[in-house]
Amino acid sequence: MAHPQSSLVHADASVAHASTVQRRSTSGGAFVFIGERLWLDFVNTDDVRRGVRVDVFRDFEWLVRWLDAAGVLDAERAAGIRRRAQQQPAGAAAALVDARRIRASLRALAERGQHSEQIRADALQEINRVLGRSAGTRRVEGREDGSFARAFVPVGDAFAGLMIPVVESAADALVQGELLRVRRCADPRCPRVFFDSTRNGRRRWCDMSACGNRAKAARFRAHHQAESGGT
Ligand SMILES: [Zn+2]
Repeated sequence: MAHPQSSLVHADASVAHASTVQRRSTSGGAFVFIGERLWLDFVNTDDVRRGVRVDVFRDFEWLVRWLDAAGVLDAERAAGIRRRAQQQPAGAAAALVDARRIRASLRALAERGQHSEQIRADALQEINRVLGRSAGTRRVEGREDGSFARAFVPVGDAFAGLMIPVVESAADALVQGELLRVRRCADPRCPRVFFDSTRNGRRRWCDMSACGNRAKAARFRAHHQAESGGT
């Protein structure tokens, strides 16, 4: 099991995937989960598609949809959060800003954390900032498929608790010493990061069917051009 017992992240949030997994939010929107860890998939919501930077979190509603698709927010809690967001749009906007700030810090940790003590220290401060401000209840919940999952139900400020599972996942990575296996996609134009869970530690691409295939096609073209005299 990759999950430490202390993990509060829902069990299916960091299940190992061999290739791209798309998951839908119950309220619409399909998201790519290739990071193999919740915190890395969260970082990957700051994406690039066809050379254009794309923020999956267009607004607060999309953040809620992503958390739903990631399995860390059930439909009931998502509905509660949406009601709160309608009543307190400024609070929701601030929560979105905060999510992006946490994401930037976690991206730095994913990309350069293993080489920089300063970045690890900064990320740790950010993680503890989020953990320190939230109170809640730890629970074990039965799921529809008969399995069980740990969950964190915030009390008080619901917005403040939203990022807890993501930040817990990053904390777990530090505790487990996983940074050495966190990689960025080998395509320099692709910003996606992932946890390499392969036995030989040679996963190079975020997604074999996208970046991996593109690289294969480029190699083929280069080879073909060389054979035909480079014309
Ligand atoms: Zn890629």
